[in-house]
Amino acid sequence: MKYAPVVHNRLGSILFHKPNIMGKTVLLADAEQATASLVTSVLENRGHRVVTASGGKTTLDLVRTETPDLIIVGEQLDDIDGIGLIVKLRSVSRTIKVVFISNQWRESDLYQMLTQDYGVALVIHRPIKPLLFGAQIDSQLNFPKVDLGSQKDQALGKEHERQAILALRLRFRDAMPSRLAMLSDALQSAVEQPGNVPVVQEARRLAHNLKGTSSSCGFEQVSAASSALEKVLTAAQLPENIGNRDLWDEIELLFCKLRAEAEVELERSGNDAVDPQHDDANMAKILVVGSDLPTNGELSNASVPVKLIKTTAANALEAATNESLDAVLIDMETAGSSMTPMKIARELRSLSGHESLPLGFIKQPNTDANENRNESTHAGASLFLDKPLEAEALREGIEYLLTVSQGGRPRVLIVDDDPDFSNMIANTLGREGVLVRTINDPAEVLTTMEAFVPDLVLLDVMMPGVSGFDVCRMLRANSRWQEIPILFLTAQTELEARLAAFDAGGDDYLPKPVAPVELLTRVKVRLERSRFIRERADKDILSGLFMRRAFMEQVQSLLAEAARHEFSFTIALIDVDKFKNINDNYGHLAGDRVLAQLGGLLKKRFRVEDIRGRWGGEEFIVAFRHETAVTTKGALERALDEFAGMRFKGDHGEDFSVTFTAGLATYPEDGDTLEKLVHIADDRLYAGKEAGRNRIVDRGSHGKDTAS
Ligand code: GH3
Ligand code: MG
Ligand code: MG
Repeated sequence: MKYAPVVHNRLGSILFHKPNIMGKTVLLADAEQATASLVTSVLENRGHRVVTASGGKTTLDLVRTETPDLIIVGEQLDDIDGIGLIVKLRSVSRTIKVVFISNQWRESDLYQMLTQDYGVALVIHRPIKPLLFGAQIDSQLNFPKVDLGSQKDQALGKEHERQAILALRLRFRDAMPSRLAMLSDALQSAVEQPGNVPVVQEARRLAHNLKGTSSSCGFEQVSAASSALEKVLTAAQLPENIGNRDLWDEIELLFCKLRAEAEVELERSGNDAVDPQHDDANMAKILVVGSDLPTNGELSNASVPVKLIKTTAANALEAATNESLDAVLIDMETAGSSMTPMKIARELRSLSGHESLPLGFIKQPNTDANENRNESTHAGASLFLDKPLEAEALREGIEYLLTVSQGGRPRVLIVDDDPDFSNMIANTLGREGVLVRTINDPAEVLTTMEAFVPDLVLLDVMMPGVSGFDVCRMLRANSRWQEIPILFLTAQTELEARLAAFDAGGDDYLPKPVAPVELLTRVKVRLERSRFIRERADKDILSGLFMRRAFMEQVQSLLAEAARHEFSFTIALIDVDKFKNINDNYGHLAGDRVLAQLGGLLKKRFRVEDIRGRWGGEEFIVAFRHETAVTTKGALERALDEFAGMRFKGDHGEDFSVTFTAGLATYPEDGDTLEKLVHIADDRLYAGKEAGRNRIVDRGSHGKDTAS
């Protein structure tokens, strides 16, 4: 996967980053103390070593003595300003990676000078957002070193792009004859039924779609001919033109011309060939560990195209670091060296960027999935599939895994009545790590949105039966989709159409044909913005978990679901033991690191569809779906063991470890409202503290009797 870094690089960081680097050295050059401590704490939490300098001279010395992997330069240093320092740095090293933190938005030519002439990998603007910042730096550390002398990265990116466009072109080429036949049929019906406006409209729609897609796929002449045809068909719809023979003669002529152009361009594209490696970009990627599934490679009939990547137990971790995965299936009978299936699961989820990877297991039907329920709940098994695995069960299982995780790849829903066009867009986005679902019938929008929960919608304007504007208005009327970014894609480019798009509640408007690069940029900007707004509102920065309000919202709908389908769930209220002492003895920053680590542990253990939150201060809360108190207790005890086994460093280098206490409450036996459940969990947590801490307390164990 040589292409991955380039792709990530072009798209930026947070959305698509997948760091798998450990312990790099970062040199921070900034005179401002507040920045220094923020940056240091964020990066040290991510396992890096941070060396700081407040002066330019010291920085240049440290570049030589510390050989850092990356330098972060701030706006102002004691003896030089940041930009001056970057210029000096480049006279010392052409290759070292530089990130610049800017206090203000700069002129674009200065920005260009920094990034192009001085090879600044990234310009970050204040205020610094810790989560984003950490991810951006990790992703920079993960890229190959810059080399101002070489254009290799760029060339690789270009080649990648070229291959992808070629793939689209080939796909469209195969579809062109049938599309021309459809258009021909529609024209024929229109001629036979003069005055039947819907029939003319259908012909016009087909010509219109052909115009957009063929241009986007590089068939310029076909596009031009379709455009001419569309224009005359538009005129033919008008009441005053019904029965106008001249117009229909012209239409016939234009269609002949279109067919001739298609023949020429099809002939010319006959020699195109595509490297199959580039054609899997819009597929959901499922790692299959240690199983000899009958299905090889691609999975048909899935609503999202799926690619199965088979690997052995021994190679699972390596395979996972090389791909951006959407889910993992592990065969329970896989015989690895020291790697049991559950261990593989835990290690996969421990890879940076894979914390929310959905996990499924494949087992013999006669073995009991519950036999070691504690361990599988702890490892995060979302589902068990029985052998022999039928294609249909596999497909359903994978679709389930793809919908349980909402934290993974960004998701885009494309609604366009032209499947060739939507496939093309899906491909372009897929190559950049976006999970794409396309539908061609606008009537399916709402149900698809409920199941797929996209982060952004791309809407065609002209569709049969209903316009994209109507679909947009309908979505905006639904409180759940009021904030989702909606982009219109259409070949109608008149001002009026553009205004109508914004009127209907759209966020942006992209003309067809659309250049892949422009589409990517605009979609990317929207996705980033919406995800940040959401994360900023819902997620606690320190731990990466939901804040109380967002957690309660999610658990409220879990409660409704549990009531409807009569299943149970268990909530666990977790409180760090003697945390005040930790702050007092080892410093507040050390305390923060403990909270961040505990947040990280809760995230990478348990099923991705379990709900985790920071309840406040040093208290956390997790809702375990479909789980009784007994299993939850077993799984949490394992997590407590892991947590207690972690070693932390105090602000002055002291070594220490920490424990927690948790109280459990289960729906429905302990209560049927959240308030009641939380109250009971809190009582039990308190009992656990009284009984000596470092334990999990459920209904039967009133503190003392379950000391672990
Ligand atoms: P117990 O075992 O009974 O829970 O003792 P405790 O010391 O953990 O409980 P207490 O509630 O007395 O103290 C919690 C402390 O956690 C007090 C507060 O200063 C600290 N704290 C709350 N939020 C944060 C945070 O975000 N970072 C740090 N470092 N400390 C925090
Ligand atoms: Mg506490
Ligand atoms: Mg507390």
